[in-house]
Amino acid sequence: MDCIFCKIAKHEIPKEFSYEDEFVMAFPDINPIAKVHILVMPKKHTNDFLMINDEGLMDKLVGVVQKLITDNKLEDKGYRVVINGGGAQIIDHVHFHLIGPLGKKVSME
Ligand code: AMP
Ligand code: ZN
Repeated sequence: MDCIFCKIAKHEIPKEFSYEDEFVMAFPDINPIAKVHILVMPKKHTNDFLMINDEGLMDKLVGVVQKLITDNKLEDKGYRVVINGGGAQIIDHVHFHLIGPLGKKVSME
C-alpha cells in the first residue's frame, strides 16, 4: 500500500520524530498552521478514526498527545487536538493534529 505515513513509520522516509515507540510516532506537520503543529498516530496503518478498535492503542495515543502538550508548554497557552475523518482527511492513515498555542476564541470558520 502506498501510504506516506506507513513509509515514515518504517523509516523508509527520513523524519525527525517528536516521539517514537513501538506503536506510536509523532512528527511535525510539514505545513504547520501554528508554532506547534505535531501529528500523532499509530504506526500500524488504520484508515479512519472509525476503524480504531483497540482501546490500548487509543490510550497510548492519548498519552503521547498529553506528553507533547506538556513538553511544548501548551498546557496553559491554548491548544487544539483534531482528527479529520470520513473524507475530511487528506491522508488516510489516522492521525491526531496537536496545534497550539491558540487564543481562547475559536472562530466559526
Ligand atoms: P489531514 O487533512 O488530517 O489528513 O492532514 C494531513 C496533514 O499531513 C496535513 O496537515 C499535511 O501538511 C501533513 N503532511 C503531509 N505529508 C507530510 C509529511 N511528509 N510530513 C509531515 N506532515 C505531512
Ligand atoms: Zn499508512
